[in-house]
Amino acid sequence: MNKFLMTSLLLSALPAVDAVATEQPKLIVQITVDQLRGDLLKRYADHFVASGKSKGFKRFLDDGTLYTNAHYRHATTLTAVGHATLATGAIPSQHGLVSNDWYDRSTGKSMYCVADASNTLLGAKGYSSSAANLLASTFSDELFQATNGQAKIYAVSIKDRGAVLTGGHHGKAFWFDKKTGNMVTSTYYYPELPAFAEQFNQSDAKDAYLGASWSLSLKESQYHNDASNRPYQMPPKGFNLGFPHGMPADASATYYDMLTYTPYGDELTAKFAQHVVETQQLGADDITDYLSISFSVNDYVGHRFGPYSLEAEDNLVRLDKTLANLFSYLDKKIGLEHVLIALSADHGVDAIPEYKALRGSPALRAKAVEDINAAALSVAADLGIKGELIEKIALPDIYLNYSTITASTSSIETVAQKLAEKVAQVNGVALALTAKELTEQNLQYDPIKAKVQNSYVASRAGDVVVVQKRSTMLQSYSAATHGSPYNYDTYVPLYFTGWKVKAKEYTRPVSPEDLAVTLSAVLGITQPDRATGQVLNEIVIR
Ligand SMILES: [Zn+2]
Repeated sequence: MNKFLMTSLLLSALPAVDAVATEQPKLIVQITVDQLRGDLLKRYADHFVASGKSKGFKRFLDDGTLYTNAHYRHATTLTAVGHATLATGAIPSQHGLVSNDWYDRSTGKSMYCVADASNTLLGAKGYSSSAANLLASTFSDELFQATNGQAKIYAVSIKDRGAVLTGGHHGKAFWFDKKTGNMVTSTYYYPELPAFAEQFNQSDAKDAYLGASWSLSLKESQYHNDASNRPYQMPPKGFNLGFPHGMPADASATYYDMLTYTPYGDELTAKFAQHVVETQQLGADDITDYLSISFSVNDYVGHRFGPYSLEAEDNLVRLDKTLANLFSYLDKKIGLEHVLIALSADHGVDAIPEYKALRGSPALRAKAVEDINAAALSVAADLGIKGELIEKIALPDIYLNYSTITASTSSIETVAQKLAEKVAQVNGVALALTAKELTEQNLQYDPIKAKVQNSYVASRAGDVVVVQKRSTMLQSYSAATHGSPYNYDTYVPLYFTGWKVKAKEYTRPVSPEDLAVTLSAVLGITQPDRATGQVLNEIVIR
């Protein structure tokens, strides 16, 4: 036998190609739990299913790698901003999603973060959404490029902004229409609603909760939270204070809207995600696929009932079971040893201010918009300017009226500076920064100012940017909220489980920016193009 033939035979006996291929997960599942502050899963850990194959959150808590000191580095801790950072591995100054809404000077209209007027909604009537406003590539975009478009990329959520941003510019995003109960998408993704989504919408899934009653799953004495924040809750339409929360018997827009405030909303999201895996054959071959699932109910419940409510706690007990079912399905279908699962949140949350104040902490529900308008009147009087100084207040941003100011003898910079000085005195405001400060100065020496600068994009930001005092709601639109640069809002879990992940816990400071670059490193592909995160070595090198 000649040497060449011998070598060939030896090589053919080695499963070299397969060995390389199985080094990579078949599927990456990125789970985002909206408003899940970093302490909450440990707070409620004793409620979660702990036995073998039916674990939900405990697949992370018991078996996963936990980064328990993950904080966002931006000030506007809101849903779109957090999801965009998770998707792109970048701070908002790089990915452009600076808020859920901003003011567009060119149109004179408010811009909703994922609104896309150039496309059409599919599956219901209403405005269309896409990733068009996202100014950076996502991990999923890089996966698409690296696999010549062969990776299957899907993102699902109740909220459009929970799906669209992680789905990126090449994936397929689906979200929930609150009027029809349908899972919808837009012409950005498909020419028409795909048959598998239509099939799901025609099934009995969305109406499975008609007449259902959400009651506590455990004995009331077992909960860490209690009913003492009830006087400050703001139950949504159709809900009363206290359990049980009954669903209407007939399908209607009211019923579908109510689903989003109950564990049923997340159950439906998970069912649709499973339907996507099943019908689109995710994880079926050796090309790594990507599925992003954002569970929105924790945020809807937290805003109305507060994060320390029995509702918020029980919702997570039920989400644990929903996750357990999803993981069992993935285990049977693909094998969890082939699925890398990441878990994080788009932001944290603060207690209802009145509830926090009751316990002796400084907390305030302010009326900053009225006070800022009054401050503007006083600046106009001081400078002798006639007309409205402010064109739009979209907190934390204040947009000046350029036509009024250019018709006066004062410069825009002077007016911004004078207004910032006055606004800094407004009840509930900690500081006010001008566009000049944010663009021309390095503010990274100050932990709060640094986060404002990290959230700043000149073309989308105001001329003055406001920061609230801690535990202060500048505008009241719900019982509890988030959106500040303080730790309760920046703190989120960053957990991994499944494919080759070991049971470990790390307490060093990390950021959700690190997720996208870590996933890129796991697959050995390019990082999202404007990523600022650091690779989490422990997930990549074992
Ligand atoms: Zn929220």
